[in-house]
Amino acid sequence: MSLLKSKIVVVPMGDVDFMMVNKLASNLGPVFSRSVDILKGMKMPAEAYNVVRNQYYAQVILAKLERTKANSREKVLAVCEEDLYLPDESFVMGFVDKLSGTAVVSLYRIRQEFYGLPEDESKVYPRLFKEAVHRLAHLFDLTECRNPKCVNYYSQIMLDIDNKSDKFCDICKRSLTSVV
Ligand SMILES: [Zn+2]
Repeated sequence: MSLLKSKIVVVPMGDVDFMMVNKLASNLGPVFSRSVDILKGMKMPAEAYNVVRNQYYAQVILAKLERTKANSREKVLAVCEEDLYLPDESFVMGFVDKLSGTAVVSLYRIRQEFYGLPEDESKVYPRLFKEAVHRLAHLFDLTECRNPKCVNYYSQIMLDIDNKSDKFCDICKRSLTSVV
């Protein structure tokens, strides 16, 4: 049965903490009950870099990711350290394109350093995990959840991410099991 399920592919992008991405990849499998591959790594796409903003255009990154797909059913998630943006947003912590089955999450604003605090992996990893699960949930057709404790809750600020759990609520769990 599991062979019929679409696979998740995790892509460490640019100069990213590979250990952390590796840990993420191994923890995502059980959440979505499917196999997870991790790619060796990929450079930050130069064409996505905006020199004026000193940020990377998330949409261009996803276009690049789409080209790494072995088949249309794969769900690809990249993790990077660089700050991301969209033309109408000063920054985004992540971005998803359901149509192409691609997503990216940035560690830039997840890290304690960004807030002038000492680095603390016990804070950073859970945030990355929740962000990754949240973005992937959208690739598996879930819509934003209104339950602030659900991992799929639309969290705009770090406090929301820290306050929500790393688990799906019962409603999201049920929607997820109906997806192949
Ligand atoms: Zn939910």
